[in-house]
Amino acid sequence: MKNKFFRKSYQIGLVALICGMALEGSVWAEDSGSLNKELRLQAVPFTQVEITSSFWGPKRDTNRLSSIAANLENLEKAGNISNLKLAAKGKDPEHYKGPLFMDSDLYKGMEAAAYTLATDYTPELDAELDRIIDVIAHAQGEDGYINSYFTVVHPERRWTNLRDAHELYCAGHMFEAAVAHYQATGKKNFLNIATKFADYIDSVFGDEPGKRAGYPGHPEIELALMKLWQATGNDRYLKLANFFVIHRGEKFYAKEHNIPLDKYTGDYHQDMYPICDTKTIMGHAVRAAYLLSGCTDVGRETHNEDLLRMVRRVWNNTVYKNLYITGGIGPSAHNEGFTEDYDLPNASAYQETCASVAMILLNHRLGLLYGDTKYEDVLEQTLYNGFLAGVNLKGDRFFYVNPLASAGNHHRSEWFGCACCPPNVARLMASLGEYLYAENEDSLFVNQFVAGSVTTKIGGKDVKVKVDTRYPWDGTVRFTMDMSEPVEFGFYVRQPGWATQVTHSWPSSAKVQSDKGYEFARRVWKKGDSVIYHFGMEPQMILANPNVKADAGMVAIKRGPIVYCLEGIDQKTELKNIYLPPETKLKPQFEKDLLGGVMVLQGDAQFADMKVNWTRTLYQPLPAETQKNASGEKVTLRGKTPIKAIPYYAWDNREACPMQVWLPMAPQMEAIATEGLEGSAKVELSHTSYNCYIVGINDGKAPKKSNQHPGELTHFWPRKGGEEWVSYSWDTPIETDEVRLYWFDDTGVGEIRPPVSWSLEYQKDNGEWAPVEASKPYSVELDKWIDVSFKPVKTKALRVKVQQQEKFAVGIHEWQVFPLE
Ligand SMILES: [Zn+2]
Repeated sequence: MKNKFFRKSYQIGLVALICGMALEGSVWAEDSGSLNKELRLQAVPFTQVEITSSFWGPKRDTNRLSSIAANLENLEKAGNISNLKLAAKGKDPEHYKGPLFMDSDLYKGMEAAAYTLATDYTPELDAELDRIIDVIAHAQGEDGYINSYFTVVHPERRWTNLRDAHELYCAGHMFEAAVAHYQATGKKNFLNIATKFADYIDSVFGDEPGKRAGYPGHPEIELALMKLWQATGNDRYLKLANFFVIHRGEKFYAKEHNIPLDKYTGDYHQDMYPICDTKTIMGHAVRAAYLLSGCTDVGRETHNEDLLRMVRRVWNNTVYKNLYITGGIGPSAHNEGFTEDYDLPNASAYQETCASVAMILLNHRLGLLYGDTKYEDVLEQTLYNGFLAGVNLKGDRFFYVNPLASAGNHHRSEWFGCACCPPNVARLMASLGEYLYAENEDSLFVNQFVAGSVTTKIGGKDVKVKVDTRYPWDGTVRFTMDMSEPVEFGFYVRQPGWATQVTHSWPSSAKVQSDKGYEFARRVWKKGDSVIYHFGMEPQMILANPNVKADAGMVAIKRGPIVYCLEGIDQKTELKNIYLPPETKLKPQFEKDLLGGVMVLQGDAQFADMKVNWTRTLYQPLPAETQKNASGEKVTLRGKTPIKAIPYYAWDNREACPMQVWLPMAPQMEAIATEGLEGSAKVELSHTSYNCYIVGINDGKAPKKSNQHPGELTHFWPRKGGEEWVSYSWDTPIETDEVRLYWFDDTGVGEIRPPVSWSLEYQKDNGEWAPVEASKPYSVELDKWIDVSFKPVKTKALRVKVQQQEKFAVGIHEWQVFPLE
C-alpha cells in the first residue's frame, strides 16, 4: 500500500516537471492575481549598513573578537576540522569525533567569520578561512560529495537515512557559508566546492527519470539552495529547492524506515501532511522554522500561492498560540519543539537559541515579501530577547536552552557536544545589518531602529540616511538625509506594534500616509531633511492569553522591545515571595556599569512569605503578618518590597541566582499540597545537571504514563550506569510504613530508563543508612505506581538508591511517602 502511494505521488511530480510545472503551484507559472498583496522588498545588504549603536556596537565587537574566535577554536578542538582532514584520506571510523552533523557547525562558524570579513576585514581571518576551505576541498569526493561522517565512518550508507543522518542539512550550511564567503571576498574557492556538491545533489535528487525521491529530515538546504541560486543564477538550484519543499509531507520517511502508514506520524520532521495542507506549527522547532523560511523563499520566487498561504496560516498559529513573550519557540525538551497550542511553560521552557535564530530568519523573509510590519514586530521581539539571551556579555558562553524561570541552576556553557547554537548566534550577530532596512525600486523601509546609517541607490541615485537614537533604551529616533543630490523616493518608518504613544515630525511639505504598519511619505528628499519619531517607552505590564495556563494570574514586564526579568541577586527579599499588584509603578533608570549598561526598572512591589503546609488540610487561617523565628526575633512575612528588573537577555551574567520573567499579581502560596509527607521534605540528589528539576519529584503532579514528560523532571542524567540516590529529609522525625513511586522512561527520545534494581533506606539516629524491611521485591515496572510497604520506621530522612542500566540514567516522576495511619 505504501509503495503505491509513493509511486503515485512520484509520478505526478514527474509529469508535472516534464510539463514545466511543479507539483504544487508552479515554478514557471504566470502570476496568479492573488499575489498583489505582496510588496516584494529586498533587504539592504548589511555591507551598506553602518552600525554605530552603543547597544549593538559593543555586542557586535564582542561577537567578532570573542565569539567568532572562540567558535573557530572550539570547532578545531572538538574535531570538526580534523574530521574533514580524515575524510580526505577515506574511511577511518575510529578517529571520527562527535555527532554526525559536525560539519554543519563548522560551516556556520565559517559563515559568521565570512560576514565579519565583509565588514571588518583582516588578512589573518581571510587566510584562516582559506586554510579551512582547503581542508574542505580535499575532503570533497570526485563526484562532489562532502560529508565527513559518511566518508570516514559509513561510506556505504550515503543517502540511506535522509530522516536522521543530516547529510542534506550539512550541505545546506555549507552553501550558506560558501555564498557568504564569496560575497565577502569575491573569491570562488569555497563557492566552487559548494556548486560542485550542489550539482551532484541535483544529479541524485529530483523528479526527472533516473533521479530519486526524498527530502531532508532537518530542513535547511531549501533556503540555502535559494541563496546559492541567487549568488550563481543557476536555475538548477531553484528547481532543486522547489523539489525538496513541494514533496514534503508525502510521508517519505515511512517508506525509508519501513513504517506502516497507519503507524506513521511524521510530525517531528514536518512530514505529517502534504506541505500545502499544513495548518499548524509542529515537531522540532528549528526544523519547522527553517522549513517555513525555505517555503517562503521558494514560494516567493515560484509564485506558489498555495505554499505561501500555508506559511501565513502556520505563522498565525505560531505567533498567536505558540510564541514565548521573548520571541522564542518550542516549549518542550522532549522533541526540542512544539506540544499543543498555548503550552508555554516557564521553568522548563526549551526555547532553543537556534529556534530564535530561525524565527528571525522566517520573519525577515515574510517582512520582505509582504512589507507588513507585523513580521518585523516579531523579529524585533525575538532579536532583543530570546535570541540575545543566547550569548553572555563576554561572548564566550552560550545558552542552548532558554527557560523563562530558573531556580539558579541553569547556566550558559562554553561549548556543547551538539554545538549548533553558538555559531548560529555568531552568524546572525555578524550579519545584523541585513535585518534593519529594506528597499524596492522607489522606496526605502526602516524596519529596526539601530543607530548608524544606511546607504543605497534608488532609481539609480545615491541615497544615504543617518540614524541617531539610543534605542532600545530610548524611543526617540532621528533620521537625517545625507546625500549630495536630491532624490525622490518613499521613506517608510515602521510603527512598532508595542508603541502606544507615538509622536512624529516630518518636513512640513511631506504628505504622511500609513500602510501595513508603516508611516511614509513620498517626496523629493534633500540633504539635511529630517524625520523624527518618538515612541513612548512607558514600562508595560503584560498579560498572557488566559489559555496559557503557565502564566495564569501573572504579569511580565516590558519596556519598548525589551522583556524584563527579576534576578534574585537584585532583590531585597526572596524572589519566590515577590508579587506585583496591577497598580505597581516602575521607573526606568540607566545603569551604565551594570551588565554592559542597561536600563533597569525599579519600583515597590509586595512580598508575602506564605509557606504553609497543606498536607491533609483543606482550609486553614491566613498566617499572621509577623511571626517569631527560631531565635525568638520578630519577622515580617508580608509587606512592601523594592524590586529591580533587568533585561531578560542579560540574565545569568552574574552569580547564580533564581530568575523569573512572569511574576504573580497576588501572594503565592508554596504549594505544599502533596498526598503524603513528601511535600514538606527537603530533596537532595547524588547528582544534578542543568536540566534536572529537583522540584519535580515531590510536586504532587502525578503522571498518566511513564513516557509522559512532565516538563520538570527529577533525574540523574547525564550520569549513566552505576549507583545514584535521591533523599528526602525532614526537620522533625516522621513515621512511615509505605512509599510509592513512578518511574520515567523516554525510550525512542532520550536516555532515561527505569533502574536495574533499587531499594529504600532510612536514616538511623546515628546518621547511618539502613534498608527498610520491605514486604515484597522492589519493582521496576512502568506506567504504574510502584507501592512499597515495610516495617514502620521513625526517621528524619529516607532515600531511594538506584542501580542504573549501563547506558541509561534513571528519572523519577514522583515519590510519595505516607504517614503511619
Ligand atoms: Zn541550537
